[in-house]
Parts: sequence; structure tokens; C-alpha cells
Amino acid sequence: CGIIGYVGNRSAEGVVVEGLRRMEYRGYDSAGIALVAGDVLRVQKKAGKLANLEKLLSEQPLPASTIAMGHTRWATHGGPTDRNAHPHVGRNGRVAVVHNGIIENFAELRAQLEDRGHNFSSDTDTEIAAHLVELEVEAGRSVEDALRTVAKRLVGSFTLLAMDALQPDTIAATRRNSPLVVGLGEGENFLGSDVAAFIEFTRNALELEQDQVVAIRAGSVTVTDLDGNPAEGKPFLVTWDL
Ligand code: GLU
Repeated sequence: CGIIGYVGNRSAEGVVVEGLRRMEYRGYDSAGIALVAGDVLRVQKKAGKLANLEKLLSEQPLPASTIAMGHTRWATHGGPTDRNAHPHVGRNGRVAVVHNGIIENFAELRAQLEDRGHNFSSDTDTEIAAHLVELEVEAGRSVEDALRTVAKRLVGSFTLLAMDALQPDTIAATRRNSPLVVGLGEGENFLGSDVAAFIEFTRNALELEQDQVVAIRAGSVTVTDLDGNPAEGKPFLVTWDL
């Protein structure tokens, strides 16, 4: 439902929680965050209000990090429980994803993965995407390349962000039939399901077009199509207040 990604120099947890709060108006049933610290992926997620996640974060603090992504969920597949909350991770805990929308062919992809020995820890349509991206980065691909390969196999609607613990400078994202915007900062960049995610920090934005893939790093934003050819989003200035 609400998505934010951040790479920069600030406390990524702070930026993500603030962004999720600004997107609360959209409605949601659970919330979660993933960050990378010392090449290790850390995830906290909780059903219910954002306050429940914040309580968890104060009781079991995450290490400091400058790269993170967050999600508020509006359940479509699987009940609004802690384990169905996003982010979801691959089987080796190396890749995390957050997702808005519906992956219509998830059951088929999940069955294929189960045949290869994968176990799943949620009832969502999303979790397969984490497993698939993780398999690709384990095969040596960049996280954005991995996401391109996986997006080609997905049917449905998605705003999908992925982070690899072993490529801890990058968040990759793609979209189909669901919105994705990039917030352009100085020495920091943002991803959002809408500009509310980052409006507090920057008003320079880029709207991603259908089936484009973006990789954000602290100092760069790279857009391609699903085949890896250079592409451009649509730049715009956020001139309104929320
Ligand atoms: N289909 C996904 C789920 O049920 C994402 C829902 C959303 O857009 O928040 O977990």
C-alpha cells in the first residue's frame, strides 16, 4: 500500500518510519522495515498500526544504517498477520522485497520453487519475488539485473523494491500497473509509492514508466527498461503540499 526506500547519509530507519507515517492516510493493516547493516539484512514487521512497529523497534532496536525500505500493507493474499507483513525475504535471508499490488501467477511460481525445495513463511503472493530475486543475485547478478529477470516472469500489478545484503549501496525497483516515484536528493535518493513518502526531504521527483527498472544509490539514479537498455523516467517538481 505505502512504500518507501531510502539510500543516503541519514538514519534510514528514521526516514522510513517518517515516510510510512505520511502515507498512513492511504489505510493499511500492518507495517514493516528492512535495512542492511554490516552486510546483514535485518527485518522488523508487525500487524496493526505503525505505532506497533515503532514499539517493536524501541524494544528490539535495529542497528544504524543508511539504507532501508519500508511498507504499509493492505492485504490481498494472506490475512493481516505479523508473518504476512512486508518486507519478505528469500530463503537465505539475503534479499528483501516490499510489494504493492497483486502477482497473479504467484501460485504457479511458488509451486515451482517448492519443487526445488523452497519453504515459505507467509501466505502472500509477494514472498516468491524475494525468493526469485535472491536466486538471481546468488547466481552473481546485480540486484537491478536480478529484478529485471524476475519482473519478466511476473504477471499482474506491482510496485516492487528489492535490496541485497551483499550489495548494500543499492535499492532496485520496478513497476507495472502500479505507481513508483523516485525522489532526487543531494547525496541521497528516495523511492516511493507516492510523493508523500519523501516530500519532507525533496521536491525533485521522477515518475517511472511502465516496466522500467530503477537502481538508486546515494549518489546516482539509473533507469533502464526490462532488457537493460538506458531509459528515462518523467521528471517533475512537486509543487503542492500534502
Ligand atoms: N498483494 C500483497 C499482499 O497481500 C501486497 C498488498 C499491498 O498492496 O499492500 O501482501
